[in-house]
Amino acid sequence: MATDYDAPRKTDEDTESIQALQERVPDKLSGVVDVDDADNPGSFELAGQDLADLELDVVVLPAQEDEFTCVSCFLVKHQSQFDHKTKLGPVCHECSL
Ligand SMILES: [Zn+2]
Repeated sequence: MATDYDAPRKTDEDTESIQALQERVPDKLSGVVDVDDADNPGSFELAGQDLADLELDVVVLPAQEDEFTCVSCFLVKHQSQFDHKTKLGPVCHECSL
Protein backbone atom coordinates (compact mmCIF):
# COMPACT_ATOMS: atom_id res chain seq x y z
CA MET A 1 0.00 0.00 0.00
CA ALA A 2 1.40 3.37 -0.98
CA THR A 3 2.03 5.90 1.73
CA ASP A 4 0.68 9.38 1.19
CA TYR A 5 2.83 11.61 3.34
CA ASP A 6 0.59 14.57 2.64
CA ALA A 7 -2.46 12.85 3.99
CA PRO A 8 -3.67 13.85 7.45
CA ARG A 9 -2.03 11.64 10.03
CA LYS A 10 -4.20 9.30 11.95
CA THR A 11 -1.36 7.11 13.10
CA ASP A 12 0.34 7.52 16.43
CA GLU A 13 3.76 9.01 17.00
CA ASP A 14 5.45 5.64 17.08
CA THR A 15 4.48 4.76 13.53
CA GLU A 16 5.61 8.13 12.29
CA SER A 17 9.01 7.70 13.89
CA ILE A 18 9.49 4.29 12.30
CA GLN A 19 8.87 5.75 8.87
CA ALA A 20 11.35 8.52 9.54
CA LEU A 21 13.92 6.00 10.70
CA GLN A 22 13.55 3.85 7.64
CA GLU A 23 14.20 6.83 5.43
CA ARG A 24 17.13 8.06 7.47
CA VAL A 25 19.04 4.85 8.19
CA PRO A 26 21.14 3.58 5.28
CA ASP A 27 20.77 -0.09 4.47
CA LYS A 28 24.46 -0.53 5.05
CA LEU A 29 24.17 0.48 8.66
CA SER A 30 20.97 -1.34 9.45
CA GLY A 31 22.39 -4.50 7.95
CA VAL A 32 25.64 -4.46 9.89
CA VAL A 33 24.67 -3.13 13.27
CA ASP A 34 22.56 -5.54 15.22
CA VAL A 35 20.68 -3.15 17.42
CA ASP A 36 19.29 -5.95 19.53
CA ASP A 37 22.73 -6.37 21.03
CA ALA A 38 22.57 -2.86 22.40
CA ASP A 39 20.16 -4.10 25.02
CA ASN A 40 22.57 -6.82 26.04
CA PRO A 41 25.51 -5.39 28.04
CA GLY A 42 27.18 -8.78 27.95
CA SER A 43 27.65 -8.66 24.20
CA PHE A 44 30.73 -7.04 22.77
CA GLU A 45 30.03 -7.81 19.14
CA LEU A 46 29.48 -4.16 18.29
CA ALA A 47 33.07 -3.36 19.19
CA GLY A 48 34.39 -5.99 16.82
CA GLN A 49 35.78 -5.83 13.33
CA ASP A 50 32.35 -5.87 11.74
CA LEU A 51 32.43 -2.09 12.04
CA ALA A 52 35.86 -1.75 10.48
CA ASP A 53 34.48 -0.83 7.07
CA LEU A 54 32.16 1.80 8.45
CA GLU A 55 33.33 5.36 8.45
CA LEU A 56 32.90 6.04 12.12
CA ASP A 57 34.92 8.64 13.93
CA VAL A 58 33.66 7.66 17.33
CA VAL A 59 34.91 4.94 19.61
CA VAL A 60 32.30 2.24 19.88
CA LEU A 61 31.70 1.10 23.41
CA PRO A 62 29.13 -1.41 24.60
CA ALA A 63 26.14 0.18 26.28
CA GLN A 64 26.09 0.04 30.04
CA GLU A 65 23.16 -1.35 31.97
CA ASP A 66 21.66 2.09 32.42
CA GLU A 67 22.26 3.07 28.80
CA PHE A 68 20.85 2.25 25.41
CA THR A 69 21.89 2.80 21.81
CA CYS A 70 19.50 5.01 19.86
CA VAL A 71 18.67 3.40 16.49
CA SER A 72 18.26 6.83 14.91
CA CYS A 73 21.47 8.67 15.82
CA PHE A 74 23.40 5.54 16.92
CA LEU A 75 24.58 7.30 20.04
CA VAL A 76 24.66 5.61 23.40
CA LYS A 77 22.26 7.49 25.62
CA HIS A 78 21.45 7.32 29.29
CA GLN A 79 18.07 5.84 30.10
CA SER A 80 16.90 9.28 31.14
CA GLN A 81 17.14 10.17 27.43
CA PHE A 82 14.96 7.22 26.39
CA ASP A 83 11.82 8.28 24.60
CA HIS A 84 10.19 5.26 23.08
CA LYS A 85 10.96 1.95 21.44
CA THR A 86 10.42 1.10 17.79
CA LYS A 87 10.60 -2.25 16.07
CA LEU A 88 14.19 -1.33 15.21
CA GLY A 89 15.11 -0.55 18.80
CA PRO A 90 15.10 2.32 21.28
CA VAL A 91 14.95 5.95 20.18
CA CYS A 92 16.32 8.81 22.24
CA HIS A 93 14.36 11.90 23.17
CA GLU A 94 16.29 14.18 20.81
CA CYS A 95 15.48 12.03 17.78
CA SER A 96 11.80 12.02 18.70
CA LEU A 97 11.39 15.77 18.62
ZN1 LIG B 1 18.88 9.47 18.93
